[in-house]
Amino acid sequence: MAVSNPGPGVLHVVATPIGNLGDLSPRALAVLRAVAAICAEDTRHTRQLLAHFGVERPLLALHQHNEDAAAAPLVARLLAGEDLALVSDAGTPLVSDPGFRLVRAARAAGVKVSPVPGACAFVAALSVAGLPSDRFVFEGFLPAKSAARRERLAALAGEARTLAFYESSHRILGTLEDMRDVFGAERPAVLARELTKLFETVLDGDLATLCARVAADADQRRGEFVVLVQGVGEDADARVAEGRRIYAALSVHLPPSTAARVAAELSGAPRKALYGSGAGDAGERAGDAGEA
Ligand code: SAM
Repeated sequence: MAVSNPGPGVLHVVATPIGNLGDLSPRALAVLRAVAAICAEDTRHTRQLLAHFGVERPLLALHQHNEDAAAAPLVARLLAGEDLALVSDAGTPLVSDPGFRLVRAARAAGVKVSPVPGACAFVAALSVAGLPSDRFVFEGFLPAKSAARRERLAALAGEARTLAFYESSHRILGTLEDMRDVFGAERPAVLARELTKLFETVLDGDLATLCARVAADADQRRGEFVVLVQGVGEDADARVAEGRRIYAALSVHLPPSTAARVAAELSGAPRKALYGSGAGDAGERAGDAGEA
């Protein structure tokens, strides 16, 4: 029987749960069942996940220590027509996890790389934090030692966008204290712990309050954490956004200078940030407010 040339295979980048196994999507499961092999950060960990869902596929180790060497043979298998999946221990591969080198090598070889999106801890945290979320910066893990961490935080102290960090249980208090000292005690922040798990907790407040809560309660230092810190000057951005919304509505009925004066008075934003910002597309402009 003639066998048609299958062409290159596909590298599927598959997100897995960050806690609650119900978050593995039906499509992720179907892809994991269908591929020739699954590249996993920790094969023992992934074997447990697959066993839970009754998936039996070969596992190949792909972690930060072997990724450079492992990428070429994996790309060769893809070019030979095999479909592969890439997973990490939790959440979305490549987000503070291995995979970047394999994906880059596959793309350079002309192999299709296709996402199966799903859980990602910092996106989950952002979605429930109530901090400005139209623009944000993902910083991942800070340096482990306090001096280097403070240096990195100092470089971020003037950032206007919401900042997202990952942190582990044994460093969470030290990191929050460094943030309080470098960003200021009153900077609003959110601590998202054990998302989608039994002890899920989302604490908000200023950095001084969060430090005190975490210092006083050992339970608040257990598990996995996302720390979100509001950017500097986001309140000013919000005033301009609000002012532009008011200006857009008023400028339909009033001369621009009057509309800008009234909108500035009502919102507290500077008049010159509003004048001429126009009607009809207030939502779009409001989102751009911080870049003005
Ligand atoms: N690739 C993952 C993702 O998409 O979020 C992140 C992997 S990174 C090695 C692991 C870190 O993510 C943890 O140390 C913690 O900071 C954060 N994290 C993972 N699961 C979490 C959860 N359920 N709740 C809060 N943070 C979590």
